[in-house]
Amino acid sequence: MDDQQMNPDPLAQLCAALNDADVRILHTGDQMAPALNDWRGRFRGAALAVLQPTSTAAVARAVRACAALGLQIVPQGGNTGLCGGATPGNGQTQVVLSLSRLNRVRNVDLMGSALTVEAGCILETVQQVADDAGKLFPLSLAAEGSAQIGGVLATNAGGTAVLKYGAARDLVLGLEVVLADGTVWNGLRSLRKDNTGYDLRHLFIGSEGTLGIITAAVLKMHPKPRAVMACLVALQTPRGALDLLTRITSDLGDRLTAFEVFDAHCMELTTRHHPDLRNPFADQHAWYALVEVSETSHLVPLEHMVESTLGVAIEEGCANDIVLATSEKQRADLWKLRESISESQKREGFTLKHDISVPIAAIPEFLDTAGRELAENCPGIQIGAFGHFGDGNIHFNMRPPATSENAEEREHAIAEVVYRVATALNGSFSAEHGVGQLKTGELERFKSPEEMALFWVMKAALDPQHRLNPGKVLAS
Ligand SMILES: Cc1cc2nc3c(=O)[nH]c(=O)nc-3n(C[C@H](O)[C@H](O)[C@H](O)COP(=O)(O)OP(=O)(O)OC[C@H]3O[C@@H](n4cnc5c(N)ncnc54)[C@H](O)[C@@H]3O)c2cc1C
Repeated sequence: MDDQQMNPDPLAQLCAALNDADVRILHTGDQMAPALNDWRGRFRGAALAVLQPTSTAAVARAVRACAALGLQIVPQGGNTGLCGGATPGNGQTQVVLSLSRLNRVRNVDLMGSALTVEAGCILETVQQVADDAGKLFPLSLAAEGSAQIGGVLATNAGGTAVLKYGAARDLVLGLEVVLADGTVWNGLRSLRKDNTGYDLRHLFIGSEGTLGIITAAVLKMHPKPRAVMACLVALQTPRGALDLLTRITSDLGDRLTAFEVFDAHCMELTTRHHPDLRNPFADQHAWYALVEVSETSHLVPLEHMVESTLGVAIEEGCANDIVLATSEKQRADLWKLRESISESQKREGFTLKHDISVPIAAIPEFLDTAGRELAENCPGIQIGAFGHFGDGNIHFNMRPPATSENAEEREHAIAEVVYRVATALNGSFSAEHGVGQLKTGELERFKSPEEMALFWVMKAALDPQHRLNPGKVLAS
């Protein structure tokens, strides 16, 4: 049904159809404004209304009411996604369905190390609930104070501890999902083993709201570490980072929790935009690795092992210098340096962002080749590379110099170089940020026709009317 066919006052119709105490309807410009822009300020949309249900049953009723009125639904969590996935299009036929009021903790199962939470729970709250229970929910990212579990799962978010604990997908035992026709699928199982047919939860995780609306999840908790140590290592080259990673993995195994890397430009930017943060080294270095290790047993002498490993790394020449955090405050300060990079790039101004992954051993080659080609094609370009080196994931961000060239064309040409180099190394054009509305073209270009055809089969099976998040992931 298009605009003309709809009732001249579709909002009145929606309000009448959804006369529901459990669904708040926001419809004035001021009320809706925060939901119509993305975090980066890159996308701006319009919507008939923003719906805020407080229960799964209310989500299902809202979905059925929208379906009856021919409205499309854009699920939204904390709205921190980086690909415009939660921003509606420009017409008046879409509503934003915000999960923020569906935010109860339903169950904490200590014996089973499982946590059942609703989609609107803020990631940081979930971490705190696990912590209060003496456990760890390890998924952590710089937007954790705003990102919601539903959004985290819908984007299969990664973050800083993928190396040890995996991405969001690896932390989910069960899901509850409202389907495009309003059916509720209750898959809230906490079983560790269950080989009974297709594993539906993995269809919805990472589907960015295009196949169903996640309303609750059973999450895995892990043992809480008794000791956590972090250090910042100054490096000469990305190859040095690779050598350091090899040394640490060989000596400390899966005690390595995070191996994050950033370049000198990111260090300069972060300390300039956040005067409370400082570079702990007296000298400037080309690269820095933030390394964190943890141990759950009190029988393991972690401190001794870390000091000896780092000593060997210096002897072997893969590390220039090392600052080991000796207090919780120092550890937090080192993390702030890393976690403030995105925000600092935002403050610096418009930044081109590329979230690529390649096999870990190929990172130095990716950085060399892409950096060289960009310097040749776009003299004066300022690259700030950082990211989850231990997962093969680099946020390869940059600011081209001001020019009279068509900005959109140049942005496209730069992305083409980055994605071509990553793909040639068997990499991905989007490691953890997803596709949203930003990268639908790349998906079509870089996925095989067979894979794209399967994607469309899934969409047709679960959302034949394209009611859920149209134009996201799959360009309609
Ligand atoms: C400073 C900063 C740092 C970041 N760091 C990382 C990082 O390290 N790793 C990483 O992976 N990401 C990172 N991100 C991206 C972002 O935080 C994650 O993608 C996060 O998981 C999004 O959660 P959200 O609740 O904000 O989702 P939203 O932005 O609201 O939505 C994201 C997508 O999920 C869909 N969606 C939301 N909720 C639901 C639901 N309940 N059911 C179905 N679909 C839903 C939306 O339609 C949209 O397509 C970062 C973002 C920022 C701003």
